Amino acid sequence: MSRRRVALFGGTFDPPHLGHLNLALQIKEKRALDEVLFVPARANPLKSEQPIAPFEERVELLKLLIEGFDGLTVNTIEATREPPSYTIDTVKSYLSSREDIELFLILGEDQLATLTQWKNYKELFSLAKPLWGARPGINYQPTHLQELIKEGHVEINPLELSATEIRKRLKKRANCSDLLPSSLLDRIEQKALYL
Ligand code: ATP
Repeated sequence: MSRRRVALFGGTFDPPHLGHLNLALQIKEKRALDEVLFVPARANPLKSEQPIAPFEERVELLKLLIEGFDGLTVNTIEATREPPSYTIDTVKSYLSSREDIELFLILGEDQLATLTQWKNYKELFSLAKPLWGARPGINYQPTHLQELIKEGHVEINPLELSATEIRKRLKKRANCSDLLPSSLLDRIEQKALYL
């Protein structure tokens, strides 16, 4: 029997947006994944700024983002662990309770620039194969890990948006209906997030 192909997709998701959904759906289809787990971080060790929205709110927004899509789920494995959230710890913890899984990591190509700063990245990529999708504005020329990078590259049509840009627009109360589904916009407004 072939192993289930599962990918972890980590991020701050502050807020989650259509760029994240687009990346996950295209990689899922192109690499025939059975499941993609969105794994919100409590805090990213390589980002100096802390997330703006509380963890629980980012989880709720993610649930709204993936609603109705088969094979996409939100996983709160990082909820109880003290920050910083290292991917290697998340991967080990995920694998410890499961068998017969072929594990992958979904990443945007901007992550390549900091790859070698990740905790135990060689071990990490032996446990979970990285899959990267293009990110607009990123033209990173990799010099390390060439083979791994070539193997994991997935051609996608990226959407040009970032959470930073969305937070700025929300703060100005600018229209964000092209960036976020209305269910997320409604909740963000209800909870007065990102003001
Ligand atoms: P911020 O602007 O706050 O840094 P972000 O939009 O980059 O946030 P993250 O939560 O940091 O979102 O990203 C999680 C993952 O999603 C990262 O691997 C990132 O490269 C990827 N990603 C984010 N936005 C896009 C996009 N528009 N297209 C492709 N990948 C993306």
